[in-house]
Amino acid sequence: TSEITLRGVWKRYPPSTVALRDADVDVNAGEALAIVGPSGSGKSTLLAMLGLLEAPDEGQRTIAGVDTAGASERELTRLRREHLAFVFQAFHLVDHLSARENVEHALAIRGVPSRLRRARAEQALDSVGLSHRLDARPPTLSGGERQRVAIARALAAQPRVLLCDEPTGNLDTATASAVLELLLAQAGSGLAVVIVTHDPGLAAKCSRALRVVDGQVGHAS
Ligand code: ADP
Ligand code: ADP
Repeated sequence: TSEITLRGVWKRYPPSTVALRDADVDVNAGEALAIVGPSGSGKSTLLAMLGLLEAPDEGQRTIAGVDTAGASERELTRLRREHLAFVFQAFHLVDHLSARENVEHALAIRGVPSRLRRARAEQALDSVGLSHRLDARPPTLSGGERQRVAIARALAAQPRVLLCDEPTGNLDTATASAVLELLLAQAGSGLAVVIVTHDPGLAAKCSRALRVVDGQVGHAS
């Protein structure tokens, strides 16, 4: 089943940029989908489209079977919170909160009742191998550990689709590969993971890859 579909989607940035041309994309339940392509080709725009962060200029988009045309900002936010979570290259953690508090805070924003947050945060941090770092603040963690906290924060939301923009871009090669393995291990059992990356080696490990060139989305494998 498709979690997200794009059909004939166009996105333009005036005056002259066509960031997506007539894109047809399905994000399928449980898959690990890589999005590759040169810098400036439209990968982030595609991810923002899948993440309901940008609106198509033309074409159709659905998430969980719901057409997003005409949805209000409020409705889009609800759909995003219900179905999606994000992991970015910059980890966007709150430095003065512990790892656990960072995850709990994100759950609070999503409206998870306070009595449920602690257990869910601890379970998510455990699933990324950080059960021994619950009380550590981000500045005391390594880059790889910080990205694991960000991944735990995303997973704790129990999304259907995890959207990752260059999730290993700030990490050295060995750390990047461990974080990638962790992300790929999350795919399956329903959760789809979408990863924008420059790294062809990383893309090869995904179940499927799309290549974006000059706004045109094609199959890379
Ligand atoms: P990639 O992620 O592959 O590097 P982007 O999706 O960020 O590519 O960008 C695709 C094209 O759209 C580029 O030409 C970029 O300069 C342009 N673009 C992206 N975002 C904006 C924006 N907010 N305003 C104007 N142009 C943009
Ligand atoms: P949460 O439910 O965790 O608050 P949201 O539903 O607000 O998550 O969605 C994630 C938020 O992250 C977006 O609302 C937006 O503010 C921010 N965000 C997501 N993608 C980007 C991006 N590409 N660039 C900048 N900010 C982003």
